[in-house]
Amino acid sequence: MQIRLLVVEDEQPIREMLKMVLSYQNMIIIEAETGNAALEILKTEPVDLMLLDWMLPDISGIEIAKRIKSNSNLSKIPVIMLTAKGEEDDKIRGLECGADDYVTKPFSPKELTARIKAVLRRVNPSKDDKEISFENIRLDPKSHAVTVSDQNVKLGPLEFKLLHFFLTHQNKVYSREQLLDNVWGTNVFVEERTVDVHIRRLRKAISVNGADQFIKTIRGAGYIFAS
Ligand code: CA
Repeated sequence: MQIRLLVVEDEQPIREMLKMVLSYQNMIIIEAETGNAALEILKTEPVDLMLLDWMLPDISGIEIAKRIKSNSNLSKIPVIMLTAKGEEDDKIRGLECGADDYVTKPFSPKELTARIKAVLRRVNPSKDDKEISFENIRLDPKSHAVTVSDQNVKLGPLEFKLLHFFLTHQNKVYSREQLLDNVWGTNVFVEERTVDVHIRRLRKAISVNGADQFIKTIRGAGYIFAS
């Protein structure tokens, strides 16, 4: 599964460096220059991990970490604090506010990558990277590849997550709200009809040999994935 990593850092050279280093790690990098920009992104985009700079021009990294960890929709997102401060006290403060790890600048790309992987393993030890198949659909979480009847299908990140969710949760009706909770993870800010938009896109994308028929609309209830 491709990791969606939100980098919150006001210094552009550091963002560029992180992007370069982490793009080799099968990660999608989402950038935010300020705390407010990061909070906006979290309202609408799925994020698997955050690299959070301590010193930001608007809201401090500590404050953002606190807000994330006290928000039930976001609290599961692992946070790695990034900072120039190397004091032991700061480290403790950082971890007390809910951060999952702490990396001091300047850091080596190798160290940072190792810390990211360790946090992801800790947070999600059972993340299954095995290929999933159902009828004529195949989804490979590792390479992010989807094929229908052996034809490559290009999906947006949310459509990919939706399909992954359906493939791993078959034969059960999910309401739009439940889909938002499970796929977007930030249900409060996204309208329920957003689900319909992405379902429509997903159906269209996989409509090879009738694979779109597996996603069924249950009037007044939601959606079910079944053959
Ligand atoms: Ca900074």
